[in-house]
Amino acid sequence: MAENRAYDWIDKSLATIEKAGWHRQVKQINDRPGAVIELEGQSLINFASNDYLGLAGDERLIRAATEAIQQYGTGTTGSRLLSGHRQLHQNLESAIAQLKQTEDALVFSSGYLANIGTITALVGTRDLILADQYNHSSLKNGATIAGATIINYNHCDLEHLEENLQAYRSSYRRCLIVTDTVFSMDGDICPLPKILDLAESYEAMVLVDEAHGTGVMGKRGAGCVEYYGCSDRALIQMGTLSKALGSLGGYIAGSAKLIDFLRNRAPSWIYTTGLSPADTAAALEAIHIIHKEPERRQQLWESIINLKQNLAHLPLLPSESPILCLKLNNPQQAVQLSADLQNNGIYVPAIRPPTVPFSRLRISLMATHQPQHLQKLLEVINSEFFS
Ligand code: PMP
Repeated sequence: MAENRAYDWIDKSLATIEKAGWHRQVKQINDRPGAVIELEGQSLINFASNDYLGLAGDERLIRAATEAIQQYGTGTTGSRLLSGHRQLHQNLESAIAQLKQTEDALVFSSGYLANIGTITALVGTRDLILADQYNHSSLKNGATIAGATIINYNHCDLEHLEENLQAYRSSYRRCLIVTDTVFSMDGDICPLPKILDLAESYEAMVLVDEAHGTGVMGKRGAGCVEYYGCSDRALIQMGTLSKALGSLGGYIAGSAKLIDFLRNRAPSWIYTTGLSPADTAAALEAIHIIHKEPERRQQLWESIINLKQNLAHLPLLPSESPILCLKLNNPQQAVQLSADLQNNGIYVPAIRPPTVPFSRLRISLMATHQPQHLQKLLEVINSEFFS
């Protein structure tokens, strides 16, 4: 390759990342997703997956995806506005709207793109974004790209949110409050009804990220909005097809006028190729299963309650979801404990700064975990934690 010094800075940057102990590498899993996986040749009980209902390897999703490929081919060949729109997309959007009890929904190529496209469509340089400090990267990124003024309020702190609304709302054209519902690195949930009350008082829009709530929270699995009984309130619900729905893609659910507006103004929806037939069909099948098999969610919640009770003697962060985190003293302890668990056949990732403010082990539960999986986890955690 021809010499060009313009890229030399990448070596330096990588060295800095390495030196700080932040260098990340991929881990290869070569079988279907499940409660037990083979990771680089080792069989492990998997507590690192977002596949909360155990649907990503389900035969019915695989069949739906395969049939969709047979009928529609592998790619959609263009933007939804040009040659990329299929009946399948329509069916999935109707199913999402029905699950969320909204007028309409719009499917994006990923949850990340749904957040970026929606935030940039809704607000611009004359506007204000009030964001929970622990929001997901896609919400933060969307806010930055939108060019709005961003104020982070303290995590789930309604007083701080209101102080900011009081101080700054009137200086801006529009205001958008943005929050995860289930916080993905902590497992706690946002105080949604009060956030919506504040939004109504101060004339602010609300965008909630239900990536980790959909399929898991609420009686029908519609998410935290349903859990809190807020389905009839004015808000914008985002989610992903890639976690409890076992597929790939993201969505926005809301009023018909909002969805119509996004179809006309969300760049990450307009200028990208329509979601693949396989992903679309798999997600649609997952929503049917969520309706048909509430026992999956019940099973998941039994495991959550069981594990929370049995971890109560350890520094467990407050959680209302399948994400249970053990607070650790430093990154070294987190990495060591994760490695010890792996040596004992259990995969629980260590999450460290700068991703989170303090180090932790992050345990993700699935409906397909068996009692013996949880038992083994508890045995090993108890023996390693106090060793
Ligand atoms: N929001 C949250 C809270 C997430 O955890 C994720 C995925 N990690 C996303 C958005 C992005 O979703 P996707 O993986 O579909 O891009």
